[in-house]
Amino acid sequence: MSNENVWEEIEQIVSTYVQAVRLELHERWETWTLDLAKRELYEVIGALLARQVTMAIQLAEAPSIWNGHIAPLILRSMTDNYINLAWIFGDPLERARKFILHGLGQEKLHIEHFKAKLKADGKDAEKDSIVQQREEWLNTQRYTFLTEVNVGSWSGMDARKMAEEADCVDLYNFAYAPFSAATHNMWHHVAKYNLAPCPNPLHRYHRIPIVRSESSDIDYVYRAAKYVQKAFTLFDQKTGVQTSSASAFDNLDQAINSFNQKGDRQLSKSDIREQTNEDFTAQSKGGEK
Ligand SMILES: [Zn+2]
Repeated sequence: MSNENVWEEIEQIVSTYVQAVRLELHERWETWTLDLAKRELYEVIGALLARQVTMAIQLAEAPSIWNGHIAPLILRSMTDNYINLAWIFGDPLERARKFILHGLGQEKLHIEHFKAKLKADGKDAEKDSIVQQREEWLNTQRYTFLTEVNVGSWSGMDARKMAEEADCVDLYNFAYAPFSAATHNMWHHVAKYNLAPCPNPLHRYHRIPIVRSESSDIDYVYRAAKYVQKAFTLFDQKTGVQTSSASAFDNLDQAINSFNQKGDRQLSKSDIREQTNEDFTAQSKGGEK
């Protein structure tokens, strides 16, 4: 199979997934019986589910970021989102309110910082269009429970504790924590991804900075789809909603498997290598100090 055909097939697999996962979300929302007295609960859970689907779709449609530099940032955010969702389901109305309050508090704080900066620069903060737009958005958030603005951690605990309470500590240990290395640019990420051995034998094997081209690996899409599926399964359990549409994740899983068998090609790091540009190192920049 030529490289071109490979990418055509991948495009097909991805677009089928994207359509199916959108449909799954839509069907869940339509089937869930609304109680407008608890508007905030429906809005928060609906928004977080849509966020999960959005992240998976954005990742799936961008093969150039199916790599260890960028995909973990999205996957980390997806695991974070799942933990929030699972924790909220533990006491939905109360925790959905907390979630909103915290977000509005953060927005208010940002606006205040921005106004202070404008004033320091001698400008009229109240007439600034960005300030006006953001304040207007804030003022339209008329929830009856709104009384105070909370600026601490929204749940009052860290992600690990939330994961423990929400019965998903494995997700925290095996996904959230390792993906955090890329998100926070920690040593165990940058040392693997952004250093290479110095070719000068007199330099005692120190390492030099490198901006490495990574091949595309559809496994990252598979994982994103899995986290969407996980959120859907949780939603179905907690709400009792039953849907008839096929699982986008199951279909994706099958499509990847049959693609691999049929074409005798693994959709993996080594096979689908998109050569973009030459690796850039300090070396090619004219040598190091
Ligand atoms: Zn050197």
